[in-house]
Amino acid sequence: MKQKHTHQYKKIDIGVKNKYEVYKCVLPGCSHYMPNMNGVVGAVTLCNGGCGKTLIMTQQIVTNRVEKPICDDCKEIRKKDRALAGVYDFQAAAGGSK
Ligand SMILES: [Zn+2]
Ligand SMILES: [Zn+2]
Repeated sequence: MKQKHTHQYKKIDIGVKNKYEVYKCVLPGCSHYMPNMNGVVGAVTLCNGGCGKTLIMTQQIVTNRVEKPICDDCKEIRKKDRALAGVYDFQAAAGGSK
């Protein structure tokens, strides 16, 4: 029986001598991968951000060779995290001892 699930694509390099990148499903027990990276365009993938949501693999993701595609929500969260980190760095740079 074949497993029926939404693949979670992640870009990996399976090349031995030469770089050979594919989008492979990282879910346990699944060996599915797309030999042609453009083949994943339009496919549904689980978000690599761990939120459990799905997103559609776009041409943009493939063109940008995104290693771990994440959904818009996770992108927003990461943006905020970065912003927070920026604020933190700014405060640290501004100094001020306790
Ligand atoms: Zn899979
Ligand atoms: Zn997500």
